[in-house]
Amino acid sequence: MTLDIAATVSALITVTGQPARPLGLHEPWLSGQEWTYVKDCLDSGWISSVGSYVDRFEQEVAKACGAAHGVAVVNGTAALHTALILCGVEPGDEVIVPALTFVATANAVCHTGAIPHFVDSAPDTLGLCPIHLAEHLAMIAKRGPGNTVLNRTTGRRIAAVVPVHIFGHPVDMDPLRTLCDDFGLPLIEDATEALGSTYKGRGCGSLGTIGTFSFNGNKILTTGGGGAIVTNDPHLAQRAKHLTTTAKIPHRWAFNHDEVAFNYRMPNLNAAVGCAQLERLPEFLKLKRLLADRYQDALADCPGLSVVAEPTGAHSNYWLNAILLDAEQASARDALLEATHAAGLMTRPAWNLMHRQPMFTHCPRADLTIAEALEKRIINLPSSAFLATEERPS
Ligand SMILES: *Cc1c(COP(=O)(O)O)cnc(C)c1O
Repeated sequence: MTLDIAATVSALITVTGQPARPLGLHEPWLSGQEWTYVKDCLDSGWISSVGSYVDRFEQEVAKACGAAHGVAVVNGTAALHTALILCGVEPGDEVIVPALTFVATANAVCHTGAIPHFVDSAPDTLGLCPIHLAEHLAMIAKRGPGNTVLNRTTGRRIAAVVPVHIFGHPVDMDPLRTLCDDFGLPLIEDATEALGSTYKGRGCGSLGTIGTFSFNGNKILTTGGGGAIVTNDPHLAQRAKHLTTTAKIPHRWAFNHDEVAFNYRMPNLNAAVGCAQLERLPEFLKLKRLLADRYQDALADCPGLSVVAEPTGAHSNYWLNAILLDAEQASARDALLEATHAAGLMTRPAWNLMHRQPMFTHCPRADLTIAEALEKRIINLPSSAFLATEERPS
């Protein structure tokens, strides 16, 4: 059936209300204890790289996803970079990442000196497809010395797998875990978009060897800019803290560092905002689910599209709502983007796939049929939690 652009825009406005100002895709909502906690930092002078809000934020982020340990860092990219190093990724290795993701996933791989190896998405989760990956590895991988996995074509070691929970929808982790265990590959969750999402009752971020979050201004919770590494492994957690804090050996005055490391610490000021935001996570999750339900209802009768819903067995945080145009309607995508923008609704297409970005065109990749189809058909919708309320922060 043919997409009706005017009817689609009208249906969207029944959910968002007639926008008094352009509505962003995902705006921060700072009406909790943010001012109080930031003022406390300023009054006490504890604004920088250590402080009680950092400690509290680390514990509470871990708790929010059901992991044992958390380490706060400057952003999600730094969290991914650190996680890859902790999992033993080395220069010249290849790391499996989906082609459909934000550029930071692939960038973090390159920051370690490794090379991203792009694989396809699953149509139901939009995330890395375990079936496709199993077929791909069966074709291109061979066992190397010392329990390693080698890419038969390039000769390089395949060192890790990084699934991304796209828009907050959990990847099908169980078969992926089995596959990774079979090959002895560490599984790093790019859960940057998925705080509060669960898979079979367990929190995203806590499902792999290590999980990573982002608290950029557009994520479900924000610290201004920030990220976190979470894990159930106390040894990895301790290594994460060490590597992200210049590898300094604790001492009252001596500056001894035992390896080349990073200054990736989250400042206490940002953690203060994060503690206030975390207090509201349950409310945000409830509102975002309500908003997703409203989009589902409002768009149910609109021809030519469907609304992306959480995969079976999973509970999504619905970070970004998305519509999926019917395959034959993909050519109308840009017209719908134009019409929604003209109506004051910020919408956007999916990211351009990674293997089309100039710095990654040479990278190894699998067949990407599903990702290439999704790329043309996805449109993200305004998804701020407050859209499910009468409130509109100015
Ligand atoms: C936001 C995001 C990141 C990176 O987070 P930053 O805090 O911006 O560095 C990484 N991967 C995905 C999928 C993201 O959406």
